Amino acid sequence: MTTWHEYIQRNGTVPDWPYPLNYGKVNEIVTDVLVIGGGVAGCRAAISAARAGATVAIAERGHAKRSGAGGAGVDHWHGAVTNPCSKVTPEMYTRACYDSMGGYTGGHVRYIITSEGWDTLLECEEMGIQIRDVNDEFKGADFRDEETKLMFAYDYENRHIVRVWGYDIKVRVYKEAKRLGVNIRNRITITSLLTEGGRQGARVVGATGVNTRTGEFYVFRSKATVIATGGASRLTNFAPEITASGSMGDMNSAGVGQAIGWNAGAEFVCMEQSGPGMLTGHGYAPYSMGNASNTYHGTPIVDADGKEVPWMDVFGRELKTVEERFLPSEGQRFQLGIGIGITRTAQEFRLNDIPVDLPERLRRGEFKLPLYADLSRLSELERRCIFGMMVGNEGKTRIPIYDTYTKAGFDPDKDMLQAPVMPLEGYWNACYWAAGPNTPPTLRGMGGGGGFLLDWDLRTNLEGLYAASGSTIFGGGCHGESHTTGRYAGRRAAAYAMTAPEPVADRAQIEAEKNRAYSALKQDKAGIGWKEINAAITRIMNDYCGKHKNEVTLNHGLRLLNELKTTELAAAFASNPHELGRLLECHSLISVGELVIKASLARKASNSILDFHRLDYPDMDPPEWDKLLPIRQVKGRAEVRELPLDFHLREPYAPDYEENYRKHAGL
Ligand SMILES: Cc1cc2nc3c(=O)[nH]c(=O)nc-3n(C[C@H](O)[C@H](O)[C@H](O)COP(=O)(O)OP(=O)(O)OC[C@H]3O[C@@H](n4cnc5c(N)ncnc54)[C@H](O)[C@@H]3O)c2cc1C
Repeated sequence: MTTWHEYIQRNGTVPDWPYPLNYGKVNEIVTDVLVIGGGVAGCRAAISAARAGATVAIAERGHAKRSGAGGAGVDHWHGAVTNPCSKVTPEMYTRACYDSMGGYTGGHVRYIITSEGWDTLLECEEMGIQIRDVNDEFKGADFRDEETKLMFAYDYENRHIVRVWGYDIKVRVYKEAKRLGVNIRNRITITSLLTEGGRQGARVVGATGVNTRTGEFYVFRSKATVIATGGASRLTNFAPEITASGSMGDMNSAGVGQAIGWNAGAEFVCMEQSGPGMLTGHGYAPYSMGNASNTYHGTPIVDADGKEVPWMDVFGRELKTVEERFLPSEGQRFQLGIGIGITRTAQEFRLNDIPVDLPERLRRGEFKLPLYADLSRLSELERRCIFGMMVGNEGKTRIPIYDTYTKAGFDPDKDMLQAPVMPLEGYWNACYWAAGPNTPPTLRGMGGGGGFLLDWDLRTNLEGLYAASGSTIFGGGCHGESHTTGRYAGRRAAAYAMTAPEPVADRAQIEAEKNRAYSALKQDKAGIGWKEINAAITRIMNDYCGKHKNEVTLNHGLRLLNELKTTELAAAFASNPHELGRLLECHSLISVGELVIKASLARKASNSILDFHRLDYPDMDPPEWDKLLPIRQVKGRAEVRELPLDFHLREPYAPDYEENYRKHAGL
């Protein structure tokens, strides 16, 4: 094998483009259901649509075998509340999320997730994913159920989050989709939705895309379409050469699904939500440094002298034993766990944690830096489960962390993992690797919990258009949630497709999109590249739609995005299909940026739950603004309406979660 350096030294130049170039060639694919984005949500949507008897195609930006945030694995599955050991019901879980967020999360989506999350996981087991301790490696552990051999995370009493051996979960769902005959088209970046008559707001009848290897153009015609393209982390943070864009985000998270939906007239909510851009920040590789969060929940943290930082319950009481860290305290009903797509958890459902005033304690000299994670202070079963089973299966940790550290001699029985040394504020949260020392304090994640506004069918306001996933939809969550919403949306899309009329695409709309998609090939070669443009978009969003904003800054942001689009981006040149794909993503990022800013302009009030701070409307949480503000484009102009937070339990829906679910689930 020749390395890159050897090649360059030998040839003195970069290699030729390795794929045949066929710019302009049009491929047309007709299918009942088109799934845009082949991450875990997309693959599950395709599988359930295919099982329902529909013909299905997936258009995927990378390669569906490993693509997306879930492509590198998973170690715990949230929302499996109907598993035989759980003491939590779908309604309890849904209300816990909804109440924690003061109503700013899609309760109906949560209910769907918790009603089907366990069944969705059982299907994973059928696909060959290990979800039980079948080899009895952890027999006798307090996180294991002896009868079912299921293992649980976070709350060992209420048992609704399942630890799973998910390092190859994506490969398994990909193979299942292939086995069912799903037409998987990899390396396609989708650029637009096709609508009946080419009209914004009309029925969706397919999509267009460009192959990022050959440059060929794709026209998909579909009776139903499911968007499952994940998040938009490149909107607020872009630094691909360091861990930033590639740590918890994904380089392909360019908000394309949101952009094409917005441009087609789909409705969104809570896109104005913002918050510290922690998990997309300039942190360390995920789970690589000492910490006590998520996969490492419960791990003892010690200081430079070996003095242990106490663990506290949610009421500020110090926990005396390690076992107590995994149990709810008196006064709590159950603990929800973190990383489930909500940004605030009510005390009643919060996890035990290390003290929130740790930065202050460090400042006072109570503890001495650096801090370390000392796994040796855990029971042997817990230690082996965290640095073994979990780090061995979690996304992006099996090879980079578990394998590399183990081969380098790291032994959790006696070695400690050092936490980053950083400004003391960085210790506010025990996920230390994410809040790295260089995280700019202004870095914000936009559109945190916002996304497509969906109904009880997980359908958008546009006929024929459904959505699923963690970060694309309002009310989404993480890995299990993405599988589950994908599975549900695929099923509903297939049911619609069975009786839907043929998808007739508008030729003028296709032609216009083809011209737009290829325009970067015709520009002067003096133009700047996609990376500079992406960095500029990120800069504009951070500066003008950052933590503190007002009407003037937001309008400046809109103007600057538009200037960028009509000057530098319009003049940018793509020298190959890869650059073309990335430039097209910059167009999408600008569309999502406009959506976020317009949603921010519409909310003329500050809101603590959305972490939304309007300097021109400084009153926090005025009751008259306690509502959703769905936003969509009508004839190219943003239109905003008002919607009660509990809209999913009001007319035309039933006032009861279970009744709505039964009516819409299609079971
Ligand atoms: C390191 C890491 C560890 C994690 N650990 C856990 C965990 O233990 N538990 C948990 O619950 N969650 C975990 N998560 C989160 C979880 O992986 C995600 O929530 C989940 O994978 C989201 O799935 P998705 O299908 O919605 O989106 P994604 O996985 O992001 O998939 C979106 C897909 O769409 C494709 N796409 C994007 N744009 C286009 C386009 N224009 N055209 C075509 N295709 C496109 C992408 O290539 C991608 O394949 C982790 C995430 C990471 C990064």
